Amino acid sequence: MLNTWVVTPTCLPLVLRRCHTCASERFRANGKFRVNANHKLLDAWLLVLCTVCGDTAKLTVLERVHVRSVRPELLDRMHDNDPGLAAELLQDPVVRRRNHIALDWDGAWRLDTGGSDHLDGEVLDVSVRFAARIPVRPVRLISEGCGLSRAEVGRLITDGKLVSAVRLSGRLSGDFTFMLKR
Ligand SMILES: [Zn+2]
Repeated sequence: MLNTWVVTPTCLPLVLRRCHTCASERFRANGKFRVNANHKLLDAWLLVLCTVCGDTAKLTVLERVHVRSVRPELLDRMHDNDPGLAAELLQDPVVRRRNHIALDWDGAWRLDTGGSDHLDGEVLDVSVRFAARIPVRPVRLISEGCGLSRAEVGRLITDGKLVSAVRLSGRLSGDFTFMLKR
């Protein structure tokens, strides 16, 4: 039987970016936007606050874009300070590259395994789905989901009892499957 585990965000990730006021490197989005119209051109930013001094920085979302080429739904969501939109934009690689930021997902996600009944069988088949592209170590997920230490998970990989089409060392942020034979 195939089990499905889901890596789910629990809050917005922190934004890694140097603060010009206090030299901290972490900002938090609070879901607020600023939109500025100049004639027919729009600029829009997602606001982020320094986690140490509270200073505000602006992440560019739209830059001198003609008002007619912006989807009205997007504008509405920015005017409504939609936190879901903030999450979508932070996960957009184009937005991250443009603003030279990276994300810190520590403590901002959880693993849903749907209970521990699946742990009894001799063979455990698991499909791991990512509800957002959160970079995590498969070893950490498997140790948490199976109630094993990371060293034990490492040994199972070495012994060929834990197999996957992807490399289980390192980090992943996309769906994968693995099989554990006891
Ligand atoms: Zn600061």
